[in-house]
Amino acid sequence: MRTKISLRASVKFQFTVNAMVLQANKSFERTLPFTILFSEYHSRLDVPSAHVYSDCDLNQYTTVKGFTIMSNTVKDYRLDGIYRQRQDGFFMQRVKLAAGVIPAVQARAVAAISTRFGRGTIHLTTRGSMEIHWLKETDLPEVKRALASVGLTSRGACGGAVRGITCSSQGAVGFPAVETMARRLHRHFTANPRFERLPKKFKIGVETNAAGRRHLIQDIGLVLSGYDEECARYDLFAAGGLGREPQPGFLFEAGVSENRIIPLIEAIARVYAAHTPAGKRLKHLVRSIDENEFRRLVALEPSAAEELPEVSGLQENLIQISGNRRMSARIYAGCLTGDQLIELADFAELFADGLMMVTAEQEIAFHVTASHNPAEASAALSRCAFNANPVSFRVCPGSHECRMGLSATRNVAQAIIGAMGPAGRTKSWALSGCHNSCTQPQLADIGIVSSSLAKDDSGERSPRFDLLLAGSDVFGTVTERSLTLDELCSKVREIG
Ligand code: SF4
Repeated sequence: MRTKISLRASVKFQFTVNAMVLQANKSFERTLPFTILFSEYHSRLDVPSAHVYSDCDLNQYTTVKGFTIMSNTVKDYRLDGIYRQRQDGFFMQRVKLAAGVIPAVQARAVAAISTRFGRGTIHLTTRGSMEIHWLKETDLPEVKRALASVGLTSRGACGGAVRGITCSSQGAVGFPAVETMARRLHRHFTANPRFERLPKKFKIGVETNAAGRRHLIQDIGLVLSGYDEECARYDLFAAGGLGREPQPGFLFEAGVSENRIIPLIEAIARVYAAHTPAGKRLKHLVRSIDENEFRRLVALEPSAAEELPEVSGLQENLIQISGNRRMSARIYAGCLTGDQLIELADFAELFADGLMMVTAEQEIAFHVTASHNPAEASAALSRCAFNANPVSFRVCPGSHECRMGLSATRNVAQAIIGAMGPAGRTKSWALSGCHNSCTQPQLADIGIVSSSLAKDDSGERSPRFDLLLAGSDVFGTVTERSLTLDELCSKVREIG
């Protein structure tokens, strides 16, 4: 009962804020060069809301008389998958890849774009996307066209939208079914205006099994649970996420038929859009109204019980799994040049049916086809010239390029690798440049989060780090806080 009252009060409050913002907007427009970001999506969704901004990059916003507004001088490209870099005048373009799969022909296009418009560097993300850095604003339309010319899209790769559909079980036997599902979700939610301008990002991951725990860090995590005649079934987990307040997703419904997955996710996204304050993830909504109320609200949505007609036709997956023929190129910090990506595309065309996969470990993986000798393929892959990562170590761009970064992550990772002994090299590591936890440090054996900047004796500001260790909890937990880099390296030496 208390929850119902609070929801009604919240809706009333939102209407009040809307009216105030409209009024304020009229007067500001006459006097100031600002526009209040007044979300259009709620008229499309037919739900009341007062979303004033939709993601965590607040650098483009300012507050005037209590209202959050966006400067007209700053263009918001996030729904096109573009973030401003830390360096003024430069932009990062993220490219969505369903389940991380990319044909060599598309990889060549990404390499060419990075060389022509950027500085020839590409970053692989832990969510199976590619990022092209160092783009100029005037080149962004041409970049978008060049991506479209090979069938790639970046729509919704950033901002309050359904992000790229991820999969970290690309080597598993069940991957073809999961890749098909990922493609279906990617097609349905990408550029769908009903699911853009959400309160914040909305992440979906599809896995063949629960072993990697990545289904627990998504807004919606799907785990293939079996088959019922021709129909695949999935366990659907909801409201997970990492960041400053990690929260594992909970099992929303077991054994959901594949024909109900899209309408059920639509229902959850609508409840999320209607009841969540701007800038908050689904996990915040579930925490504030509790699981039962969340389930009740979802059940009220007409699409919650909808079953789409059975999908007939051929599988849509590209990767054929045949035996244990998976190989991967480890790439330090997920950074490679356009030329290196082209070398890997050449390898894919020779040995792997022209198909490549960006993995959750920031590698490029391949399935060597049955007609090729794996030993020969392995020798060919080892001849590719790229910076092989000596340990399993996920690293985000940090302050090298990201506006949120508190530390120069690639340099910090090098220092940590230098301090490691043989025992450390057998562990999995992840370093994030801020609390956003893009490298999923809570899922590594040893996770490191750049947690703050602190002034040292000379008055210089330097990063401090939290250390997380995997244990019996679902996620690794913080064992040390606010370490200097020297202190962090000492801890690494203790691991051996
Ligand atoms: S974790 Fe890294 S990439 Fe993600 S927002 Fe922070 S600094 Fe940027």
